[in-house]
Amino acid sequence: MWSVPKNQRSASTGSCCTGHEPMIESIPLPIVDDPVDRAFWQACDEGRLLVQTCTQCGHRQHPPRAMCPACRSMELGWQECAPTGQLWSYVVPHPPLLPAFAPLAPYIVGLIIPDGFPGIRMVGAIVASAEEGIGSVAPAEIAIGDRMRLTFVRLAEDVALPCWVPDAACALSEREEKP
Ligand SMILES: [Zn+2]
Repeated sequence: MWSVPKNQRSASTGSCCTGHEPMIESIPLPIVDDPVDRAFWQACDEGRLLVQTCTQCGHRQHPPRAMCPACRSMELGWQECAPTGQLWSYVVPHPPLLPAFAPLAPYIVGLIIPDGFPGIRMVGAIVASAEEGIGSVAPAEIAIGDRMRLTFVRLAEDVALPCWVPDAACALSEREEKP
């Protein structure tokens, strides 16, 4: 449902008035061939989520950057996340929205802590499934602290967006384990 042909990577422009900024009509796509985060997007394309990790001091950071802010090393590597995490916070964007996003509202943009990476917050849409896409979970259906499972929504031939599915089964078993 949220798919943009590759040839529309530069948002299609429709200028209503000469001299004004053109209106963004299609969903903006990330640049996936930048040296700093190319590996991140390549992994997403393969269905894996990576966190940038400094090879000198072990500092982890997201989004990827050219330098480690802890030790200033530029020797940066990657660690793969488990495909599960916890909802740390979320927002529900309301109109006015860019035209490409308006039909998807209300949708949920979450901040997820991937399991094993407590200092990392991943931004991602909360979806019922990759097929159902953005806007397929109602805000009333989720709560901060919910368990989440990683999925990828394909936006273009070479762009897979990491998104998260509420993991009800996982949450239920955790509740049962509590005394
Ligand atoms: Zn470092």
